[in-house]
Formats: sequence, C-alpha cells, structure tokens
Amino acid sequence: MSAPLIIVGAGHAGGRAALTLREEGYDGRLILIGDEPHVPYERPPLSKALLQGSLDLAGCSLCDSARLAELGIEHIAGNAVSRLVPQHQQLQLADGRWLDYAGVVLATGGRARRLPQAQANVLYLRTHDEALALRATLRAGTRLVVVGGGFIGLEVAATARGLGCVVTVLEAGPRLAGRVLPPIISEALLKVHREQGVDVRLNVAVECIHADSVQLVDGQTLPCDLVVVGIGMQPNVELAAAAGLEVGQGIRVDEYLRTSAANIYAAGDVCEFRLGGVYQRQETWRNAEAQGRHAALNLLGRALPFDAVPGFWSDQYDWGLQTVGVMTPRMLSRALPQGGVLLFYLDADGYLQGACGWAPGNSVAKDIKLCERLILARVALSTADLADPAVSLKHWLRG
Ligand SMILES: Cc1cc2nc3c(=O)[nH]c(=O)nc-3n(C[C@H](O)[C@H](O)[C@H](O)COP(=O)(O)OP(=O)(O)OC[C@H]3O[C@@H](n4cnc5c(N)ncnc54)[C@H](O)[C@@H]3O)c2cc1C
Repeated sequence: MSAPLIIVGAGHAGGRAALTLREEGYDGRLILIGDEPHVPYERPPLSKALLQGSLDLAGCSLCDSARLAELGIEHIAGNAVSRLVPQHQQLQLADGRWLDYAGVVLATGGRARRLPQAQANVLYLRTHDEALALRATLRAGTRLVVVGGGFIGLEVAATARGLGCVVTVLEAGPRLAGRVLPPIISEALLKVHREQGVDVRLNVAVECIHADSVQLVDGQTLPCDLVVVGIGMQPNVELAAAAGLEVGQGIRVDEYLRTSAANIYAAGDVCEFRLGGVYQRQETWRNAEAQGRHAALNLLGRALPFDAVPGFWSDQYDWGLQTVGVMTPRMLSRALPQGGVLLFYLDADGYLQGACGWAPGNSVAKDIKLCERLILARVALSTADLADPAVSLKHWLRG
C-alpha cells in the first residue's frame, strides 16, 4: 500500500486542502493532523459573531466529523506533529507515533504573539477555545483594555462595545491598523470607534499590566477588569525549520507552493511566497482558502503557479472594510453615496492594481468584486471617472 498524503495543521488552509484532495478525486489514504481538538474551522467569526454569542463552532466549521469520516479523511485531533524527517518521508506525532508520507501540506498557521509575563487577566485571541474564554468574561460594564489597534484588537473592541463593555484601545503607533491600511481608512476607523464610545489612545506604550490595571509608560494608570492583547501573530515555522526547510518570515515556497523539501507544500498564514517579486505572508481568510486548495491541486501533480489576487475584510460595528489586490503609491478616492469611501490603486500605466473600501454594512462588497474584475481584465481607466461616484464601475467591464 502506498504512503498517505498528510496535511499538517487542521485549520482553514489545512481543512480546505484535505477537502479539495477528495473533491479532485484523490482516493488514497488521507490524514489530517491538528493540535486543536476541533474539526477545521474558519477564524473570522472568533472576533465577531462567535465572540458576540450569535454563532457557535458548528457555524464556523468547514465540515463536521461525520463528513470527514464519509470522505475517508482520517482526522487526528489534539495531537501535534512534533517532527518532520524529509529525508525518510516520515513524520512523528506528539504521542510518539511515526507515519510515512507520500506528500505533505504544511498548514500550521500561527499563534497569538504573547507578552513576556503570563497574567491571569490577560487574554489572547487566535483559537476557538480562546474566543470562548474571552466570551465568558465580557459582560455589560466589564472594563476592558485592548492592547493593539490592529484588526483583532479593533474587532474585539467593537464586539465588546456591543456587549456593553467599557473599552479602551491602546495603540503604540500613530494610527490604527497602520501596518496594512492607508491613513484615510485609519482615520475612519478612529472616528467610528470614538463615536461608539471607545477610548482610543494612539502613540502610547504599556509599561506593565497589573491584576486590576494597566500602567502606561507616561505614568497613567488605567483601571480594568480584563486585558486583551492583539499585537499580531507568530507563524508556526518551528517544525519546518527543525526539519531543515527554508524558512524566512514563514515557510518559504516557490510559485507552485513547494517548499525546499521534496513533496512538501505550504499554505495559509505560515506560507511565505513571492507576491509582486517580494517574499511575504498573507494572514487572511482568502489566502488560506486559495492556498489550501492550490497546494492540494499541486500535490496531485497539476503544477499550477499560484497567482491569486489577495484581499481581506473586517467588520466593525455596522461598518465593513474590504480590500482587493495590492496598494500602490498612486491612489485615487471616491466618496460613496451611502457613506464611506472607495480607494483605487493604480500602476504607472493607469491600470488598477488594488482597491480598498469602507462603507456601512456589506455595501462595499459589490464595488470590491467589480474592482477585482477590473484588475484581472486590465482595462484602461479614466482617473476622472474613477473619482466620480456617478460613474458605475460596471461601465468599463461592459466595454
Ligand atoms: C480572531 C480572528 C479574526 C480574523 N478575522 C479575519 C477577517 O475578518 N478577514 C480575513 O480575511 N481574515 C481574518 N482572520 C485571518 C484568518 O482567519 C487566517 O488568515 C486563517 O485562519 C489562516 O488559516 P491557516 O489554516 O493558515 O491557519 P490556522 O487557521 O491558524 O490553522 C493552523 C492550524 O494548525 C495547527 N497547528 C500548528 N502547528 C501544528 C503542528 N505542529 N501539528 C498539528 N497542528 C498544528 C494550529 O493549532 C491550527 O489549528 C482572522 C483571524 C483571527 C484569529
């Protein structure tokens, strides 16, 4: 009997890879190994609907265990892969078992970056179980300090406000989500959070966290019941690095998502790939979905270069943010009739490379989809028309 295909990491990308292998007709032995005790699930609801209490694990799962069994996917849960030996095409589980493999997808994602000292009142948010632990502490009147004004911190702040908590957000930089968003959107985020009653502080540094307060470097003390730290994530690269695979900020892959070891692919948050010539990782739903599927196809010998258009979204209060493509220095903006703004990013020749929209509800999603089509179609655009909300984006696609 030939050796199985093994997916390491039963999160979004890993789950998608396993399901794709079956959908694409692979009928050999297939093993999905995850250190969490759950079936593969999507993480975006962890800071939104699940944290708010309107969705449970089943509502975020890619499939249930009955479906995995029906598809003949052997799901080993609550058991990490502790060693990978590419020279022998073998890996070892934390419980000591060794498994041979014919091919592997590494989809080990990442973990929340932690502060050096452990504190009982400090919580993080990366996993379903962490979301439930946080959910259990959020009540009307809970004084919450969020450290980090990135997406996770801001989404937690928005959900906690919805639950009636008293929320302060501390951001070390000069603006919110400054690493990934343009200043105009950071400003819009700041405005909406302040309107919703969040005490947002920029350019502040935390000196230390006590059981009932957070002390800032400038000497101020913020009394609180709970601290959520959202200061980014650390990719789980250790397994790959110890196995001698090429690792940078993530597990390095070529255009086919192949790592430096034979028959081993990487996908999702942990995967460092070239986008626009530069190695980078994407920590997004869309990337986990696309790369999980793509790695599976290439494991089956399709040899398809990965060139999906990147993108992500965030929901805060009743506002939605969506991006697609890449941001370039040449930006144009369009005020949206329903409120909010749509930003277009052009290359030197005037072709659309990316777009970013912020608007009430989900209303910007349609525009962003049209922008994606415009990026792919490489249509020449008039800058005056782009800035004019009266000109439909569809008009260029019709041509
Ligand atoms: C709270 C939250 C909200 C988010 N919201 C959005 C959003 O609104 N929009 C958006 O685009 N993206 C969002 N994201 C990002 C998106 O969810 C991630 O990009 C996506 O989950 C990445 O999937 P992944 O499979 O690469 O990694 P993960 O989902 O992290 O899965 C990796 C899995 O591998 C396991 N693992 C690690 N090492 C081992 C090992 N050695 N052996 C076995 N198992 C292992 C991990 O425990 C984990 O279960 C959010 C993320 C979080 C945490």
